[in-house]
Amino acid sequence: MEAVAARYATAISPALVDVIRAAGPRLARQFVPDMRELETTPQERSDPIGDETHSPVKGIVHRYPDRVLLMPTLTCAVYCRFCFRRETVGSAGNLSPAELDAALGYIRAHPEIWEVILTGGDPLVLSVRRLKDLFAALDAIPHVKIVRIHTRVPVADPERIDGELIETLQLTNKTLYMAIHCNHAAELTPHVAAACARLSTAGIPLLSQSVLLKGVNDTVEELEALFRTLTAARVKPYYLHHLDYAPGTSHFRVPLDQGQALVAALRGRLSGLAIPTFVVDIPGGAGKVRAETSSLSPEGDGTFIVRDRHGTEHSYPPATALE
Ligand SMILES: *Cc1c(COP(=O)(O)O)cnc(C)c1O
Ligand code: SF4
Repeated sequence: MEAVAARYATAISPALVDVIRAAGPRLARQFVPDMRELETTPQERSDPIGDETHSPVKGIVHRYPDRVLLMPTLTCAVYCRFCFRRETVGSAGNLSPAELDAALGYIRAHPEIWEVILTGGDPLVLSVRRLKDLFAALDAIPHVKIVRIHTRVPVADPERIDGELIETLQLTNKTLYMAIHCNHAAELTPHVAAACARLSTAGIPLLSQSVLLKGVNDTVEELEALFRTLTAARVKPYYLHHLDYAPGTSHFRVPLDQGQALVAALRGRLSGLAIPTFVVDIPGGAGKVRAETSSLSPEGDGTFIVRDRHGTEHSYPPATALE
């Protein structure tokens, strides 16, 4: 553990220690260091999805025209062993005031930026004072309409979602969304569900992001339980991510075709409300794409062959325009 902790940031929050005690090894794998992290396969790279190639200033990643990532801190409440930013999280702390000014200056100077995604690290480890200052700065940029917070804090430290934090989030004049990182139904303890209820009652729409992980959630039963539990906690499953090629994560990797089969199996047994989009990030920085198998194949004459959830093929006719 010491050798791994010397290489990668390591921390487990008290709330997640309780989850691991109650739920066992499949939960522990996400957070407890493993010797296999010291081995890197040829596909794995330090910047797996090419954040650096799209970073115009420190703390900003601008890959898609209408939205940027803003990373005010690289600190997290827990360090996930499979994190795609594992080469950077836990190392540098917060952006300095000058760096944050420069990052906000970039957003101010780019009117095409409609949405700011606060990520890191975990933006909700910042003090209420820092969050207030950050939201006040974003509030003063009229072309930014949406602020989205990507966080693991509601799971890793649900007590942090207290009245003071919620009041702070309610001060902004932007439309706020929160995407919560959660990979297993056992992470959604009654305390976590209560934190989600506080956020939802405060008018903050909640989404989830999950990563498909070998030995953690790679069965159709576990995925189904995860997405049902999230949806029942008023969290809309948003993305299921195929694991990126971050260094030392091969013991977590589910082959892409197995991921596709798991997601296809969900369609037949789970409400559409509870099904996230399965996505993969193209190594090097070309962005996210849908990773699901297509149930439509073109015939060439405008007809499509459509496969239903039992695998039976049907013909879908082309449209005829009325003159
Ligand atoms: C994933 C990602 C986003 C957000 O993508 P959505 O599909 O809008 O959730 C934005 N910017 C970067 C650089 C990303 O990697
Ligand atoms: S909370 Fe998110 S950013 Fe932090 S270690 Fe886990 S996956 Fe990485």
